[in-house]
Amino acid sequence: GVAVGRRVRSKRKWGRVIGVLKDLEDSCDTTVGRLKQVVDAMAVEMHAGLASEGGSKLLMLLTFVDNLPSGREKGTYYALDLGDTYLMALRVQLGGHRPSILAHDVERQSIPEHLMTSKGEDLFNFIASVLEQFIEREQNGSGFPLDKRRNLAFTLSFPVKQTSISSGILMKWTKGFSIDDMVGKEVVECLQDALMRRGLNVRVDTLVNDTVGTLAVGHYHDVDTVAAVVIGTGTNACYLERTDAIIKCQGLLTASGSMVVNMEWGNFWSSHLPRTSYDVDLDADSPNPNDQGFEKMISGMYLGEIVRRVILRMSQDSDILGHVTSKLSVPFILRTSLMAAMHEDDSPDLMEVNRILRDTLEVPEVPLKVRKLLVNVCDVVTRRAARLAAAGIVGILKKIGRDGSVGITGGKSRSDSKMRRTVVAIEGDLYTKYSMFKEYLDEAVDEILGGEVAQHVILKAVDDGPGIGAALLAARNSPEDVDTAQ
Ligand code: BGC
Repeated sequence: GVAVGRRVRSKRKWGRVIGVLKDLEDSCDTTVGRLKQVVDAMAVEMHAGLASEGGSKLLMLLTFVDNLPSGREKGTYYALDLGDTYLMALRVQLGGHRPSILAHDVERQSIPEHLMTSKGEDLFNFIASVLEQFIEREQNGSGFPLDKRRNLAFTLSFPVKQTSISSGILMKWTKGFSIDDMVGKEVVECLQDALMRRGLNVRVDTLVNDTVGTLAVGHYHDVDTVAAVVIGTGTNACYLERTDAIIKCQGLLTASGSMVVNMEWGNFWSSHLPRTSYDVDLDADSPNPNDQGFEKMISGMYLGEIVRRVILRMSQDSDILGHVTSKLSVPFILRTSLMAAMHEDDSPDLMEVNRILRDTLEVPEVPLKVRKLLVNVCDVVTRRAARLAAAGIVGILKKIGRDGSVGITGGKSRSDSKMRRTVVAIEGDLYTKYSMFKEYLDEAVDEILGGEVAQHVILKAVDDGPGIGAALLAARNSPEDVDTAQ
């Protein structure tokens, strides 16, 4: 009697867990029909954000980049790349003709966690010290004259309202950074001051978002590149827009007639997005509630955390994980890289899943069917993220008339229209290192566009980091042969 009763109870509980998974699947629905609604919403919001300041949750920021690298860039340029849990310092040597990137040297330093939430000056002093060490270390190797001024491009991967290619004001923080006294400040000034305090002869002459650096490097490798997407800790996109379409800046003139627009798509929102109760709770508990809604469904900072919340719910509703461990209640303990490792565990008995559960969440060994269930959770969350990012990309293509819809060649039917080859550069660990994510994203772009059009759209993973792209832009911005001052 007792044993049978227990079995019935545990069956009922298993049923409840399956119910949690089923609910999750339903609320993460990304049928092609729904994705197309997201595509349309993205294109509509892009128009609105270009029409007027504050016209949309999409900031659609000017970048003052009107010309992308050609391969003729020349000189030695430095770059600092800030926007993640680490800081990168780079030196890029450019030869003046293809392949012009002769050499580059990169150094990566973790940013001490307390600096992400302290005072601006502390963060910038740290940044300056990293660059100083980088320059000191290179003295023997780089051949760069000690006393000559260095030109530096600053990649800052947060929303910045730029006033020129070399200046801009920080609008807000994302991705867990929160340094209040920096908001509203001229970021290049802050960096330049910190470098001066160190006595470094460095001039910060280029300021770019990481998406813009990615577009630059993508375009350098392939001139058909028209947009760039980053899907890493955070997510965002930029693309080349005609200046006459940037209605909020009437009279904006550039030699090329176009300018790169930084969309800040992490803050995109639409009622068509498939949202779950886990997303709602995650947002409420985050340091930036009601902000970066798209980012919170897509990027690396959050995917593992969504999965953790689902697993926690499952373990509360049943005893599938034994007793609920306290580790499982720790926000962000399940990093997205671990979640991806669970998802991609291809050992027949999912031993990697067991290992991560044990080492990270202190969950004792669970039966295979439970491990499979958890892999399923990872799959649902990642698939939704990748497919939403895909819809965002097609939204951009739609906005610039590269989605193959009728009209681009003067109203001819789709089969008559000649689609131009269109390349989107994609950077960030989710796309470049998480193969399931990439597969889902690529597949969804094909599904939304349809085979014929999809043939012309190429999604290219970019290996060179945005810092290299920023250096290429710095070379355009202040060519070495012209600039002989100081
Ligand atoms: C920032 C963007 C950045 C993206 C990717 C977002 O959180 O707002 O500026 O491009 O992350 O790093």
